[in-house]
Amino acid sequence: MIAIDSRGYYGEFGGAYIPEMLHPNVEELRRAYSEVWKDEAFQKEFRALLKDYVGRPTPLYFAERLSEKYGAQIYLKREDLCHTGAHKVNNTIGQILLAKRLHKKFIIAETGAGQHGVATATVCALMGMPCIVYMGEIDIERQAPNVARMRMLGAEVRPATSGSKTLKDATNEAIRHWINHPTDTHYIIGSVVGPHPYPDMVARFQSVISEEMMWQLEEKTGRPDPDITIACVGGGSNAAGTFYHYLNRRHVRLIAVEAAGLGVDSGESAATSVLGTKGVIHGSRTLLMQTPDGQIVEPYSISAGLDYPGIGPLHAHLINSGRAEAISVTDDEAMQWAYYLSRMEGIIPALETAHAFAALDKLEYKKDDVIVINLSGRGDKDLNTFIKHYDQYNK
Ligand SMILES: *Cc1c(COP(=O)(O)O)cnc(C)c1O
Repeated sequence: MIAIDSRGYYGEFGGAYIPEMLHPNVEELRRAYSEVWKDEAFQKEFRALLKDYVGRPTPLYFAERLSEKYGAQIYLKREDLCHTGAHKVNNTIGQILLAKRLHKKFIIAETGAGQHGVATATVCALMGMPCIVYMGEIDIERQAPNVARMRMLGAEVRPATSGSKTLKDATNEAIRHWINHPTDTHYIIGSVVGPHPYPDMVARFQSVISEEMMWQLEEKTGRPDPDITIACVGGGSNAAGTFYHYLNRRHVRLIAVEAAGLGVDSGESAATSVLGTKGVIHGSRTLLMQTPDGQIVEPYSISAGLDYPGIGPLHAHLINSGRAEAISVTDDEAMQWAYYLSRMEGIIPALETAHAFAALDKLEYKKDDVIVINLSGRGDKDLNTFIKHYDQYNK
């Protein structure tokens, strides 16, 4: 049985490795979240916003041309059609409602590529709550359109100017802020990472994805289970949502797709399950890319959302125990798929999502297997990257 235990572990991965001073904040959250989750009024408010604000249920689309080409029944779960263009908002809606119940007045978050920052700024605007998003100074330059979006939504984007001036440094600043404002501030983490209860809490907010898949598949195929589900993994929140209701249905194969960057052995990669070793990052024990003496190795991927040196503890457990299969996909393969999917189905995927599709070329499956690929986000944010490489991929 795959489930989190009372101390926040999936097998040997998880837990809450935090500075003493954060203990009260994390403990308050741990006590509150499972009760809030069971509360009927909370569920009603959460479900209503998912429906009318986010636009759920998202369609489960039968991709006819792809299916014909690959000799399988391929369905796409259309998280790209969520408000703000990706699955991330499912989680930020859940967390802002939780923050309100805990009578928090301020929201902080950290962001790398800016997608989680935008999803957080969006729900803060929705609830009229002040929002500070920490972001590495270098990322602020690299991700100008998302910075503009956050500002438009009324958030303050605070640059992290220490260290490598990227995500890891923004995270440190956010944690420092939280330590200094423990009673009135909630910290919205954007993936199934961080100290317990975040990985479990974020997985539950995202589990609406597989909850919908079950009845949508039942409607379309006569059974709730696919043979195979596929999702890309940065920290692992869209994959956790896609796998959640199938974790203990062992006949459903779970495929986690990681970014190999320039190649798993190139030194420029983010394939954590292959390159990672056990250690502590961001408050939990998991697999991460580190040097033998425990320094974090800078990850690389063309897609900013998969460019993370760790992996959520749930996924570390699923992959280590053999319940999930990990597949690595290079920048080049993902780019090819971004163009291919655009032309095969008229859907421009996010670069992160394009990695998930490339698994189709690497998997063994039976003819007419039912495959669901989670289409985690749309590609508008990546148009500059696509156009920069247009000639290379249109020979
Ligand atoms: C952020 C992001 C991801 C990666 O994050 P996970 O927590 O692993 O889901 C994947 N796809 C899209 C579209 C994203 O914005």
